[in-house]
Amino acid sequence: MENYSLLKVIGEGSFGRAVLVRCKSSQEHYVMKEVQLPKNRPKLENSRREAILLSTMKHPHIVAFREAFEADDLLCIVMEYCSRGDLLRRIQHQKNTQFCLDNILKWFAQMCVGAKHIHDKQVLHRDLKSKNIFLTDNGTIKLGDFGSACILNSSKAYARTYVGTPYYVAPEIWDNRPYNNKSDVWSLGCVLYELCTLRHPFQAPSWKSLILKVCRGAYPPLPSRLPYELHHLVKQMFKTDPRDRPSLHTILTSHRASRLLRTHL
Ligand code: ADP
Ligand code: MG
Repeated sequence: MENYSLLKVIGEGSFGRAVLVRCKSSQEHYVMKEVQLPKNRPKLENSRREAILLSTMKHPHIVAFREAFEADDLLCIVMEYCSRGDLLRRIQHQKNTQFCLDNILKWFAQMCVGAKHIHDKQVLHRDLKSKNIFLTDNGTIKLGDFGSACILNSSKAYARTYVGTPYYVAPEIWDNRPYNNKSDVWSLGCVLYELCTLRHPFQAPSWKSLILKVCRGAYPPLPSRLPYELHHLVKQMFKTDPRDRPSLHTILTSHRASRLLRTHL
């Protein structure tokens, strides 16, 4: 803790807070996420998992881990600072001006490559949403917030423990089926749709009607100005049966949209 000067709080949540810090020796900026450590054992292990899983990721499109340490009842995770903030804020900043197609494809391709790295490591992110995707000062996408992540096959029903925004949650989760790699694909489909329209694909005045829309896979069509490949990709990512949804590997290599995406990497 004494190696860093605290500059300002940049995020606050139920977990604790995210603080912009400066390393006293290198003068570099970092983000320190402080997580309140619970007293009981199983929950303690849950909190530590975030730091452990993030530390195993090393990829140009995943927030870089620097170090983690425990001080009193706080777990501090020090990571790369993404100075342009989260993608949700960036989307809100647009007001009603749509992103250009090149931008959409570049960002989405980078997200897919980052998420594929996570899946290749047998990890599920489980909370992919625009608020957990960050932009660096040169406009590169970085996936972050591994606070919900888990190792593949270690998870059973997930809906009961779900506390976040429900907009990105796949239909199988509401159906109490296990979280799987395709559930992350659904969530990325929601982010892609948001980039294309500045709106959530599934929105409703109540949880109940939202869940009904998600489980039917019913979303307003994308604008017709967007290429056919994107329409097709979104449709595939929103297949209600996870087995029908493409994996990230398929999206990046053999889906009709893959050529479009690869030219943007
Ligand atoms: P939570 O578990 O509360 O969602 P996050 O890790 O998502 O915690 O951090 C909360 C917020 O803090 C983010 O939504 C973002 O606005 C900001 N933040 C977190 N990490 C970074 C980072 N590496 N660079 C820039 N901003 C960040
Ligand atoms: Mg978050």
